[in-house]
Amino acid sequence: MNTIEKLLRSKPVLFDGATGTELQKRGLPAGVAPELWNLEKPEVVEEVARNYVRAGAFVIETNSFGGNRKRLEAGGIDRKINDVNIGAVKSALKAANKDAVVIGSIGPLGTLIEPLGETSRVGAKDLFREQTEILLKTGVHVVLVETMISLDEALLALAGAKEAGCEEVGVTMTFEVKANGVRTPFGEDVAKVAESLERAGASFIGSNCGNGFEEMLVVAKEMRISTGLPLLIQPNAGLPVYNGNGISYPGTPEQFTEFVVKAVSMGIDFVGGCCGTTPAHIAAAHGSLEQLRVK
Ligand SMILES: [Zn+2]
Repeated sequence: MNTIEKLLRSKPVLFDGATGTELQKRGLPAGVAPELWNLEKPEVVEEVARNYVRAGAFVIETNSFGGNRKRLEAGGIDRKINDVNIGAVKSALKAANKDAVVIGSIGPLGTLIEPLGETSRVGAKDLFREQTEILLKTGVHVVLVETMISLDEALLALAGAKEAGCEEVGVTMTFEVKANGVRTPFGEDVAKVAESLERAGASFIGSNCGNGFEEMLVVAKEMRISTGLPLLIQPNAGLPVYNGNGISYPGTPEQFTEFVVKAVSMGIDFVGGCCGTTPAHIAAAHGSLEQLRVK
């Protein structure tokens, strides 16, 4: 039985919340790559992950969202790609300490792919393969390609991860709810996304980030009718509000919990949080899910 099959036996499964915004609370300056702290402050990365495990998350993600070579280049740490990704996995594994499953996070390249940009398609796939290889070598079995806004890049990431030898790859995309339906920022609709990712061999699919809990329920509902694959839904805590002290997110733990209960009742298998969600959000949802299990 593979990891996803095992998770499905105890569904609904709670994933973790945001890592980047938690690191910023601990002093990571805005605009600095969160992956830098895998090298400089691994104990803080581990603490953030451990807080999620203690809050009741059964799956935690590595701090490697921006850990592809292209994106690390922007932060001037591309030469340290191995250490960045190895550190991400090690911190997560220590925090999980057999109480949680660790999956490898893979985000977008942060650059446009041909014909829209200069990165070649093969080059893009190779970048995803390279990062996945390091994550697998260090001890994860499942990777999650997340926050994808273009189906094309999502498919290249999925292909690259599979080429690296990863047999269980999840893909979550960011959608917008528009007058013409639920679509990625590149204009692809849910049915097309679901069918394409399923055909390309994704183990599970879903949606993350976006525009808060209410809108994510609309996305989740449409995804559920579009695929039989396991679904992972991870909304952000609403759009960030900028004020004198920095950034805050409006979505409360109570609202997140309501969202989780509704998503689960719709048949969503895996739920967690994106930007602005905290261990308090996960703990609140965990409490309600346990009550549901007892009933
Ligand atoms: Zn997010």
